[in-house]
Amino acid sequence: MVDTFICTVNPARVVFGRGTLGNVASEVTRLGCKRALVLATPFQKADAERLAAQLGELAAGVFAGAAMHTPVSVTEEAVAAFAGIGADCVVSYGGGSTIGLGKAIAWRNDTPQIVVATTYAGSEVTPILGETEGGLKTTRRDPRILPETVIYDPELTTGLPVAMSVASGLNAMAHAVEALYAQDRNPIASLQAVEGIRALKQALPRIVETPHDIEARSGALYGSWLCGTVLGSVGMALHHKLCHTLGGSFDLPHAETHAILLPHSAAYNAEAAATELAPVAELFGGSIGGGLYDFAASLNAPLALRDIGLAESDLDRAADLAVKNPYWNPRPIERDAIRALLQSAWQGTRP
Ligand code: NAD
Repeated sequence: MVDTFICTVNPARVVFGRGTLGNVASEVTRLGCKRALVLATPFQKADAERLAAQLGELAAGVFAGAAMHTPVSVTEEAVAAFAGIGADCVVSYGGGSTIGLGKAIAWRNDTPQIVVATTYAGSEVTPILGETEGGLKTTRRDPRILPETVIYDPELTTGLPVAMSVASGLNAMAHAVEALYAQDRNPIASLQAVEGIRALKQALPRIVETPHDIEARSGALYGSWLCGTVLGSVGMALHHKLCHTLGGSFDLPHAETHAILLPHSAAYNAEAAATELAPVAELFGGSIGGGLYDFAASLNAPLALRDIGLAESDLDRAADLAVKNPYWNPRPIERDAIRALLQSAWQGTRP
Protein backbone atom coordinates (compact mmCIF):
# COMPACT_ATOMS: atom_id res chain seq x y z
CA MET A 1 0.00 0.00 0.00
CA VAL A 2 1.18 3.52 -0.71
CA ASP A 3 0.94 5.89 2.28
CA THR A 4 -0.48 9.37 2.09
CA PHE A 5 2.16 11.84 0.92
CA ILE A 6 2.82 15.30 -0.45
CA CYS A 7 5.40 15.56 -3.23
CA THR A 8 6.86 18.89 -4.36
CA VAL A 9 8.83 18.83 -7.59
CA ASN A 10 11.01 21.89 -8.13
CA PRO A 11 10.57 23.30 -11.65
CA ALA A 12 14.13 23.41 -12.96
CA ARG A 13 15.30 22.58 -16.49
CA VAL A 14 18.23 20.16 -16.53
CA VAL A 15 20.55 19.77 -19.52
CA PHE A 16 22.86 16.80 -18.97
CA GLY A 17 25.72 15.35 -20.98
CA ARG A 18 29.19 15.56 -22.40
CA GLY A 19 29.78 18.80 -24.31
CA THR A 20 26.66 20.56 -22.97
CA LEU A 21 28.80 23.56 -21.98
CA GLY A 22 28.22 24.43 -25.64
CA ASN A 23 24.49 24.86 -24.85
CA VAL A 24 24.92 27.83 -22.53
CA ALA A 25 24.24 30.39 -25.28
CA SER A 26 21.02 28.71 -26.43
CA GLU A 27 19.88 28.36 -22.81
CA VAL A 28 20.49 32.08 -22.18
CA THR A 29 18.46 32.94 -25.27
CA ARG A 30 15.76 30.44 -24.35
CA LEU A 31 15.16 32.39 -21.13
CA GLY A 32 14.72 35.54 -23.22
CA CYS A 33 18.02 37.02 -22.02
CA LYS A 34 20.71 38.90 -23.95
CA ARG A 35 23.39 39.98 -21.46
CA ALA A 36 24.73 37.41 -19.00
CA LEU A 37 27.01 38.16 -16.07
CA VAL A 38 29.25 35.10 -15.70
CA LEU A 39 30.08 34.26 -12.06
CA ALA A 40 32.98 32.21 -10.66
CA THR A 41 35.45 31.98 -7.78
CA PRO A 42 38.89 33.56 -8.28
CA PHE A 43 40.17 29.99 -8.79
CA GLN A 44 37.84 29.38 -11.76
CA LYS A 45 38.20 32.87 -13.25
CA ALA A 46 39.97 31.67 -16.40
CA ASP A 47 37.19 29.13 -17.08
CA ALA A 48 34.58 31.87 -16.63
CA GLU A 49 36.46 34.14 -19.04
CA ARG A 50 36.63 31.35 -21.62
CA LEU A 51 32.89 30.84 -21.24
CA ALA A 52 32.27 34.58 -21.63
CA ALA A 53 34.37 34.57 -24.82
CA GLN A 54 32.35 31.60 -26.08
CA LEU A 55 29.11 33.53 -25.37
CA GLY A 56 30.35 36.56 -27.34
CA GLU A 57 27.74 39.33 -27.34
CA LEU A 58 25.55 37.37 -24.94
CA ALA A 59 28.13 37.95 -22.18
CA ALA A 60 28.01 41.29 -20.38
CA GLY A 61 31.01 40.54 -18.17
CA VAL A 62 32.68 38.28 -15.60
CA PHE A 63 32.53 38.60 -11.81
CA ALA A 64 35.03 36.17 -10.31
CA GLY A 65 34.75 37.05 -6.62
CA ALA A 66 32.51 34.23 -5.32
CA ALA A 67 33.57 32.99 -1.87
CA MET A 68 32.68 30.20 0.58
CA HIS A 69 29.52 30.80 2.69
CA THR A 70 28.19 33.57 0.39
CA PRO A 71 29.31 36.71 2.27
CA VAL A 72 26.76 39.52 1.86
CA SER A 73 29.56 42.03 1.14
CA VAL A 74 30.54 40.06 -1.99
CA THR A 75 26.91 39.80 -3.06
CA GLU A 76 26.46 43.56 -2.77
CA GLU A 77 29.50 44.10 -4.98
CA ALA A 78 28.15 41.60 -7.53
CA VAL A 79 24.65 43.14 -7.54
CA ALA A 80 26.24 46.55 -8.22
CA ALA A 81 28.34 45.04 -11.05
CA PHE A 82 25.21 43.37 -12.47
CA ALA A 83 23.31 46.68 -12.53
CA GLY A 84 26.35 48.66 -13.73
CA ILE A 85 26.83 46.63 -16.90
CA GLY A 86 23.11 46.22 -17.59
CA ALA A 87 23.08 42.42 -17.24
CA ASP A 88 19.76 40.56 -17.51
CA CYS A 89 20.76 37.10 -16.19
CA VAL A 90 23.59 35.31 -14.40
CA VAL A 91 25.54 32.24 -15.49
CA SER A 92 27.07 30.65 -12.37
CA TYR A 93 30.06 28.51 -13.34
CA GLY A 94 31.31 26.39 -10.43
CA GLY A 95 30.35 24.71 -7.17
CA GLY A 96 28.21 25.65 -4.18
CA SER A 97 30.09 28.89 -3.49
CA THR A 98 29.55 30.35 -6.96
CA ILE A 99 26.00 29.01 -7.17
CA GLY A 100 25.31 30.62 -3.77
CA LEU A 101 26.39 33.98 -5.17
CA GLY A 102 24.05 33.60 -8.17
CA LYS A 103 21.19 32.69 -5.84
CA ALA A 104 21.94 35.66 -3.58
CA ILE A 105 21.80 38.01 -6.58
CA ALA A 106 18.53 36.43 -7.76
CA TRP A 107 17.04 36.71 -4.27
CA ARG A 108 17.65 40.47 -4.48
CA ASN A 109 16.74 41.27 -8.10
CA ASP A 110 14.92 38.15 -9.33
CA THR A 111 17.34 37.62 -12.21
CA PRO A 112 17.11 34.32 -14.11
CA GLN A 113 19.96 31.94 -13.28
CA ILE A 114 21.72 29.44 -15.49
CA VAL A 115 24.10 27.19 -13.56
CA VAL A 116 26.99 25.21 -14.96
CA ALA A 117 27.65 22.87 -12.02
CA THR A 118 31.23 21.64 -11.53
CA THR A 119 31.09 19.86 -8.13
CA TYR A 120 28.73 17.33 -6.53
CA ALA A 121 27.35 19.54 -3.71
CA GLY A 122 23.87 19.85 -5.26
CA SER A 123 23.06 23.50 -4.54
CA GLU A 124 22.07 24.09 -8.19
CA VAL A 125 18.77 22.20 -7.77
CA THR A 126 17.65 23.61 -4.42
CA PRO A 127 15.60 26.73 -3.55
CA ILE A 128 17.85 27.22 -0.49
CA LEU A 129 20.30 30.08 0.12
CA GLY A 130 22.71 30.35 3.04
CA GLU A 131 24.40 33.75 3.49
CA THR A 132 26.86 35.12 6.03
CA GLU A 133 27.18 38.59 7.47
CA GLY A 134 29.15 39.64 10.56
CA GLY A 135 29.92 35.99 11.36
CA LEU A 136 26.22 35.02 11.35
CA LYS A 137 24.71 32.59 8.86
CA THR A 138 21.09 32.91 7.74
CA THR A 139 19.36 30.35 5.58
CA ARG A 140 16.21 30.95 3.58
CA ARG A 141 14.10 28.93 1.18
CA ASP A 142 12.19 30.64 -1.62
CA PRO A 143 11.13 29.70 -5.17
CA ARG A 144 12.97 32.79 -6.49
CA ILE A 145 16.26 31.24 -5.27
CA LEU A 146 15.92 28.09 -7.41
CA PRO A 147 18.04 28.36 -10.60
CA GLU A 148 15.95 28.18 -13.81
CA THR A 149 18.39 26.06 -15.83
CA VAL A 150 21.17 23.66 -14.83
CA ILE A 151 23.83 22.38 -17.18
CA TYR A 152 25.75 19.27 -16.17
CA ASP A 153 28.74 18.67 -18.43
CA PRO A 154 30.90 15.86 -16.98
CA GLU A 155 33.92 17.05 -18.98
CA LEU A 156 34.14 20.05 -16.64
CA THR A 157 34.56 17.78 -13.63
CA THR A 158 37.47 15.66 -14.86
CA GLY A 159 39.87 18.18 -13.29
CA LEU A 160 38.08 18.29 -9.93
CA PRO A 161 40.87 17.00 -7.64
CA VAL A 162 40.27 13.42 -6.45
CA ALA A 163 40.12 14.36 -2.74
CA MET A 164 37.53 17.05 -3.47
CA SER A 165 35.58 14.70 -5.72
CA VAL A 166 35.39 12.11 -2.95
CA ALA A 167 34.38 14.57 -0.22
CA SER A 168 31.87 16.27 -2.51
CA GLY A 169 30.41 12.91 -3.60
CA LEU A 170 29.97 11.81 0.03
CA ASN A 171 28.41 15.22 0.76
CA ALA A 172 25.87 14.44 -1.98
CA MET A 173 25.19 10.95 -0.58
CA ALA A 174 24.43 12.51 2.81
CA HIS A 175 21.54 14.48 1.30
CA ALA A 176 20.07 11.26 -0.07
CA VAL A 177 20.53 9.22 3.14
CA GLU A 178 18.64 11.86 5.11
CA ALA A 179 15.95 12.19 2.42
CA LEU A 180 15.08 8.51 2.91
CA TYR A 181 14.03 9.00 6.54
CA ALA A 182 12.79 12.61 6.22
CA GLN A 183 9.56 13.38 8.02
CA ASP A 184 8.08 14.58 4.70
CA ARG A 185 9.62 11.78 2.59
CA ASN A 186 7.70 10.66 -0.48
CA PRO A 187 8.06 7.78 -2.96
CA ILE A 188 9.57 9.90 -5.76
CA ALA A 189 12.21 11.49 -3.52
CA SER A 190 13.07 8.06 -2.10
CA LEU A 191 13.54 6.59 -5.58
CA GLN A 192 15.79 9.52 -6.50
CA ALA A 193 17.74 9.12 -3.25
CA VAL A 194 18.48 5.42 -3.67
CA GLU A 195 19.38 5.85 -7.35
CA GLY A 196 21.63 8.81 -6.51
CA ILE A 197 23.50 6.81 -3.85
CA ARG A 198 23.79 3.80 -6.17
CA ALA A 199 25.25 5.94 -8.97
CA LEU A 200 27.80 7.62 -6.66
CA LYS A 201 28.76 4.33 -5.02
CA GLN A 202 29.61 2.96 -8.44
CA ALA A 203 31.35 6.09 -9.74
CA LEU A 204 33.55 7.29 -6.86
CA PRO A 205 35.93 4.29 -6.69
CA ARG A 206 36.47 4.58 -10.44
CA ILE A 207 37.22 8.29 -10.11
CA VAL A 208 39.83 7.55 -7.42
CA GLU A 209 41.44 5.05 -9.77
CA THR A 210 41.18 7.06 -13.00
CA PRO A 211 40.13 10.66 -12.34
CA HIS A 212 39.63 11.44 -16.02
CA ASP A 213 37.29 8.48 -16.68
CA ILE A 214 34.43 10.31 -18.37
CA GLU A 215 31.90 7.51 -17.77
CA ALA A 216 32.61 7.58 -14.03
CA ARG A 217 32.46 11.38 -14.02
CA SER A 218 29.05 11.22 -15.77
CA GLY A 219 27.79 8.71 -13.22
CA ALA A 220 28.91 10.86 -10.30
CA LEU A 221 27.32 14.00 -11.75
CA TYR A 222 24.09 12.10 -12.43
CA GLY A 223 24.09 10.82 -8.84
CA SER A 224 24.81 14.25 -7.44
CA TRP A 225 21.92 15.74 -9.43
CA LEU A 226 19.54 13.20 -7.84
CA CYS A 227 20.98 13.73 -4.35
CA GLY A 228 20.78 17.52 -4.73
CA THR A 229 17.21 17.22 -5.95
CA VAL A 230 16.09 15.47 -2.77
CA LEU A 231 17.97 18.02 -0.65
CA GLY A 232 15.75 20.61 -2.34
CA SER A 233 12.50 18.72 -1.99
CA VAL A 234 12.37 17.11 1.50
CA GLY A 235 13.59 18.09 4.98
CA MET A 236 17.00 17.20 6.40
CA ALA A 237 17.64 15.85 9.91
CA LEU A 238 20.40 15.18 12.48
CA HIS A 239 23.25 14.83 10.00
CA HIS A 240 22.68 18.24 8.40
CA LYS A 241 22.15 19.86 11.80
CA LEU A 242 25.53 18.50 12.96
CA CYS A 243 27.26 19.69 9.78
CA HIS A 244 25.67 23.15 9.99
CA THR A 245 26.79 23.40 13.63
CA LEU A 246 30.37 22.34 12.91
CA GLY A 247 30.63 24.46 9.75
CA GLY A 248 28.93 27.51 11.23
CA SER A 249 30.45 27.62 14.73
CA PHE A 250 33.82 25.91 14.23
CA ASP A 251 34.52 26.86 10.61
CA LEU A 252 35.14 23.29 9.48
CA PRO A 253 35.28 22.66 5.71
CA HIS A 254 31.83 21.86 4.27
CA ALA A 255 32.24 18.73 2.15
CA GLU A 256 34.83 17.03 4.42
CA THR A 257 32.65 17.54 7.49
CA HIS A 258 29.75 15.84 5.68
CA ALA A 259 32.03 13.02 4.56
CA ILE A 260 33.29 12.30 8.08
CA LEU A 261 29.96 12.54 9.87
CA LEU A 262 27.80 10.58 7.43
CA PRO A 263 28.61 7.04 8.70
CA HIS A 264 28.06 8.19 12.30
CA SER A 265 24.76 9.98 11.77
CA ALA A 266 23.48 7.12 9.59
CA ALA A 267 24.43 4.65 12.35
CA TYR A 268 22.67 6.84 14.94
CA ASN A 269 19.43 6.56 12.94
CA ALA A 270 19.94 3.02 11.65
CA GLU A 271 17.47 1.32 13.96
CA ALA A 272 14.85 4.04 14.14
CA ALA A 273 14.72 4.24 10.33
CA ALA A 274 15.61 0.61 9.52
CA THR A 275 12.86 0.15 6.92
CA GLU A 276 13.55 3.42 5.10
CA LEU A 277 17.32 2.83 5.08
CA ALA A 278 17.13 -0.86 4.08
CA PRO A 279 17.86 -0.32 0.34
CA VAL A 280 21.02 1.65 1.21
CA ALA A 281 22.12 -0.72 3.97
CA GLU A 282 21.89 -3.47 1.37
CA LEU A 283 24.08 -1.49 -1.06
CA PHE A 284 26.73 -1.17 1.65
CA GLY A 285 26.81 -4.75 2.80
CA GLY A 286 24.10 -4.80 5.46
CA SER A 287 25.31 -2.34 8.10
CA ILE A 288 24.74 1.23 7.00
CA GLY A 289 27.11 2.96 9.46
CA GLY A 290 29.97 0.47 9.16
CA GLY A 291 29.37 0.04 5.44
CA LEU A 292 29.52 3.78 4.73
CA TYR A 293 32.65 4.07 6.90
CA ASP A 294 34.41 1.25 5.02
CA PHE A 295 33.40 2.81 1.71
CA ALA A 296 34.78 6.22 2.75
CA ALA A 297 38.00 4.56 3.99
CA SER A 298 38.41 2.72 0.68
CA LEU A 299 38.28 6.11 -1.09
CA ASN A 300 40.90 7.61 1.27
CA ALA A 301 38.30 10.11 2.47
CA PRO A 302 38.99 11.96 5.72
CA LEU A 303 37.60 9.86 8.60
CA ALA A 304 38.23 11.92 11.74
CA LEU A 305 37.13 15.42 12.75
CA ARG A 306 40.48 15.86 14.53
CA ASP A 307 42.17 15.73 11.13
CA ILE A 308 40.18 18.68 9.75
CA GLY A 309 40.77 21.15 12.56
CA LEU A 310 38.36 20.38 15.42
CA ALA A 311 39.88 20.34 18.92
CA GLU A 312 38.75 17.67 21.40
CA SER A 313 37.96 20.46 23.86
CA ASP A 314 35.33 21.75 21.39
CA LEU A 315 33.25 18.56 21.52
CA ASP A 316 31.15 19.53 24.57
CA ARG A 317 30.18 22.88 23.07
CA ALA A 318 29.51 21.24 19.70
CA ALA A 319 27.15 18.74 21.37
CA ASP A 320 25.38 21.54 23.27
CA LEU A 321 24.88 23.55 20.07
CA ALA A 322 23.80 20.51 18.04
CA VAL A 323 20.96 19.62 20.42
CA LYS A 324 19.66 23.21 20.51
CA ASN A 325 16.71 23.80 18.14
CA PRO A 326 17.15 20.34 16.62
CA TYR A 327 15.76 19.47 13.19
CA TRP A 328 13.16 16.70 13.21
CA ASN A 329 14.94 13.32 13.39
CA PRO A 330 13.66 9.71 13.34
CA ARG A 331 15.49 8.93 16.61
CA PRO A 332 15.16 11.35 19.52
CA ILE A 333 18.12 13.71 19.85
CA GLU A 334 19.77 12.88 23.20
CA ARG A 335 22.65 15.04 24.37
CA ASP A 336 24.77 12.17 25.72
CA ALA A 337 24.29 10.05 22.61
CA ILE A 338 25.18 13.02 20.38
CA ARG A 339 28.28 13.72 22.49
CA ALA A 340 29.30 10.07 22.04
CA LEU A 341 28.65 10.26 18.30
CA LEU A 342 30.87 13.35 18.06
CA GLN A 343 33.61 11.64 20.07
CA SER A 344 33.64 8.69 17.64
CA ALA A 345 33.62 11.01 14.64
CA TRP A 346 36.43 13.06 16.19
CA GLN A 347 38.58 9.96 16.71
CA GLY A 348 37.56 8.38 13.42
CA THR A 349 36.27 5.18 15.02
CA ARG A 350 34.23 2.83 12.83
CA PRO A 351 30.56 3.08 13.93
P1 NAD B 1 33.04 25.32 -3.65
O1 NAD B 1 32.04 25.84 -4.60
O2 NAD B 1 33.41 26.21 -2.50
O3 NAD B 1 34.35 24.93 -4.47
C1 NAD B 1 35.59 24.71 -3.81
C2 NAD B 1 36.75 25.11 -4.71
O4 NAD B 1 36.84 24.21 -5.82
C3 NAD B 1 36.57 26.50 -5.32
O5 NAD B 1 37.80 27.15 -5.36
C4 NAD B 1 36.09 26.20 -6.72
O6 NAD B 1 36.37 27.23 -7.63
C5 NAD B 1 36.84 24.92 -7.05
N1 NAD B 1 36.20 24.07 -8.06
C6 NAD B 1 34.88 23.86 -8.24
N2 NAD B 1 34.66 23.01 -9.26
C7 NAD B 1 35.89 22.66 -9.73
C8 NAD B 1 36.33 21.80 -10.80
N3 NAD B 1 35.46 21.10 -11.53
N4 NAD B 1 37.64 21.68 -10.99
C9 NAD B 1 38.54 22.35 -10.21
N5 NAD B 1 38.18 23.18 -9.20
C10 NAD B 1 36.87 23.33 -8.95
O7 NAD B 1 32.64 23.89 -3.04
P2 NAD B 1 31.25 23.10 -2.93
O8 NAD B 1 31.50 21.98 -2.01
O9 NAD B 1 30.70 22.84 -4.28
O10 NAD B 1 30.26 24.15 -2.24
C11 NAD B 1 30.27 24.40 -0.85
C12 NAD B 1 29.37 25.55 -0.52
O11 NAD B 1 28.07 25.36 -1.08
C13 NAD B 1 29.15 25.72 0.97
O12 NAD B 1 29.16 27.11 1.30
C14 NAD B 1 27.76 25.13 1.20
O13 NAD B 1 27.13 25.68 2.32
C15 NAD B 1 27.07 25.46 -0.10
N6 NAD B 1 25.96 24.53 -0.43
C16 NAD B 1 24.71 25.03 -0.49
C17 NAD B 1 23.64 24.21 -0.82
C18 NAD B 1 22.26 24.79 -0.91
O14 NAD B 1 21.32 24.08 -1.27
N7 NAD B 1 22.07 26.04 -0.61
C19 NAD B 1 23.86 22.86 -1.08
C20 NAD B 1 25.16 22.36 -1.02
C21 NAD B 1 26.21 23.21 -0.70
